[in-house]
Amino acid sequence: MATIINGKELSKKIRMQVKEKVQELNKERIKPKLAVIMVGEDKASKIYLKNKSKACNEVGIEYEEFILNENIKMDELLELIRTLNEKKDIHGILLQSPIPKHLDIYKAFQTIDYRKDVDGFHPINIGRLVLNKQTFISCTPYGIIKMLEEYKIQLQGANVVILGRSNIVGKPLAQCLLNKDATVTICHSKTKNIEEITKKADIIISAIGKPKYVTENMVKQGAVVIDVGINRLETGEIVGDVDYEKVQEKASYITPVPGGVGPMTIAMLLNNVVIATKHLEQK
Ligand code: NAP
Repeated sequence: MATIINGKELSKKIRMQVKEKVQELNKERIKPKLAVIMVGEDKASKIYLKNKSKACNEVGIEYEEFILNENIKMDELLELIRTLNEKKDIHGILLQSPIPKHLDIYKAFQTIDYRKDVDGFHPINIGRLVLNKQTFISCTPYGIIKMLEEYKIQLQGANVVILGRSNIVGKPLAQCLLNKDATVTICHSKTKNIEEITKKADIIISAIGKPKYVTENMVKQGAVVIDVGINRLETGEIVGDVDYEKVQEKASYITPVPGGVGPMTIAMLLNNVVIATKHLEQK
């Protein structure tokens, strides 16, 4: 039976540490502040924003939301980003995805001042990650690395298989793990014989968004299984990508959904806001 990796507890610990750092900054009259931009009315995004705002509040990070009409023009979005870039009291800028199709998300990310890019999506920050230089690491991969380190899971030389190659999870995560000396394989929708690949993994990380995709047949006895997926079933229940009940009998460590990777993502966002504040204020 697997040990459950408790992301909720670990995220609490990190949030407490962030709160202390914020209090230290406050003593020097510095107030870390996050600006969040959302375009349109995506239901899931609204929930994420609510959670982010609550989390910022709890640790004393100031939070301002900019909700834009879904028909906004690209120029207007870029203008807002540039205005926020210039504002001295704003230390972190986050553009909530998805944004409507007529807008160029790459261009938007590229316009955010890379020193305020707390999501780690700016090409400079991604480039620095590839070069293994200090940078903002996107929050979900960063949270996963923190979890693995907290539970003392050996990364050096580990055979890690990541399912999913998105720009926000799979790709930056692969790079983070490579920087930690793991041997990394990335699978995606065109990969053949995925089961044969995952069965050889010491660590499987699934980020594809398909309920119960990872079954016990795909998992080696004693493997570590990290579930990034967040899938809402018709019943309203939230489940991950992993068939949790069955896989936990075979795995050595496993993350639950909810209560695994999700809370870590927000904790690392708060952490990144503090890092950005310190850099910008030269503390
Ligand atoms: P995404 O952009 O939709 O990417 C999904 C990836 O999975 C793609 O690379 C896709 O391959 C691959 N894929 C889809 N079906 C597959 C299959 N049958 N076999 C192998 N690969 C397959 O998703 P995302 O934004 O990375 O998110 C993935 C999941 O993680 C979602 O459930 C999302 O809600 C969740 N998520 C959770 C957190 C958190 O904090 N816990 C954060 C972000 C995302 P192709 O590239 O070939 O299309």
